[in-house]
Amino acid sequence: MANHSSSLSLYLHIPFCRQRCSYCDFNTYTSVSDLRDAYTNALSQEIRYLSTERNLFAHTVFLGGGTPSLIPAEGIRELLKAVREVFNLSNDNEISMEINPESVDKIYLQKIRDLGVNRLSIGVQSSLSTELQLLGREHDFDAAMKAAESSREVGFENINLDLIFGLPGQKLANWRTSLQDILELDPDHLSLYCLTIEPGTPMQRWLNAGTIQSPDPDLAAEQFLYACELLAEMGYEHYEISNWARPGKQCEHNLSYWRNHEYLGFGAGAHGHAAGFRYSTVKQPRVYIRRLGEKLTRQEYPFTPATIDVQKLSKREAMSDTMITELRLLQEGLDINSFEDKFGVSPQDAYPGIIEQLINWELLRINRQRLLLTERGWFLSNQVFYRFM
Ligand code: SF4
Repeated sequence: MANHSSSLSLYLHIPFCRQRCSYCDFNTYTSVSDLRDAYTNALSQEIRYLSTERNLFAHTVFLGGGTPSLIPAEGIRELLKAVREVFNLSNDNEISMEINPESVDKIYLQKIRDLGVNRLSIGVQSSLSTELQLLGREHDFDAAMKAAESSREVGFENINLDLIFGLPGQKLANWRTSLQDILELDPDHLSLYCLTIEPGTPMQRWLNAGTIQSPDPDLAAEQFLYACELLAEMGYEHYEISNWARPGKQCEHNLSYWRNHEYLGFGAGAHGHAAGFRYSTVKQPRVYIRRLGEKLTRQEYPFTPATIDVQKLSKREAMSDTMITELRLLQEGLDINSFEDKFGVSPQDAYPGIIEQLINWELLRINRQRLLLTERGWFLSNQVFYRFM
């Protein structure tokens, strides 16, 4: 495995969707399609803003959203051109793009493949039409199957499928059907997320109005357990709480987040973590475009004219970040010696009593100088992380 610890990961945010899904609270907008070209230009400009920095190395690029596949292939070309002008991309680079099934055809997929995109993440969410309607998805399962098949036909060898479980009214049998249907598409990687009903979403309004029932957390745990068992049988490695991969197909970009390595975020509402800072950019696409269009004043690396929120990490915050991100990796966990080298104190001394208690409660374990969540801890990970905040 290549060591990319000193190389960056790049996240490019595309904040456009054709319609908003009922559970979504991401930074995405549905009525600004006239801004797409101007936004692509502004995003390229923001990337090029770092062109005065020397020797920037990157090994992953992730086009996320929103719906990146709403940007025409010509726009994707522009963005990747800007990336390649500014960053030295490693030979084994991973360039991922999120796509929604209804927004792509084979010609588009062929074009982005030719541009160097080598990993796709397809938002499938369910194979059942009633669930897709509840989620407010634009596509049906036929469209998802077609997108996955076309992706293979044009040469994609690394495909992730996203699914959601823990839906209101979702029976275990429905979840089994969805998961089995999706496995027939032979994904290299699966991301299975438990639904959280976020404030301000249509789903929360339906819940408040009594139109839908609150999901049952015990049933969601059963669904998760079923997925763990089935995917293990099928040869997928459960390497992060919500992620499974065929051998060698882990998402390198997300691994960088979970290994707490540095990444740069570009685009409206993107987040970054570099040079001892966490930062984010202005959220509204129009304001973002305006800022990049103004006469650019010099900012210190890693900031750009779109940066609005900067937090210098204290040692305490950096330790907390390390605990919370690295424990998400179920097989790797947190390397106790590296933690000590970095912070001059062991995790046990940094969190006196807490780690011992979590081990006694069988939520954490230590194996070969690595601190890991136990299987019980996978289900209760939020309660574990809360103790390190
Ligand atoms: S496609 Fe994704 S980003 Fe867009 S509205 Fe749906 S969940 Fe949100």
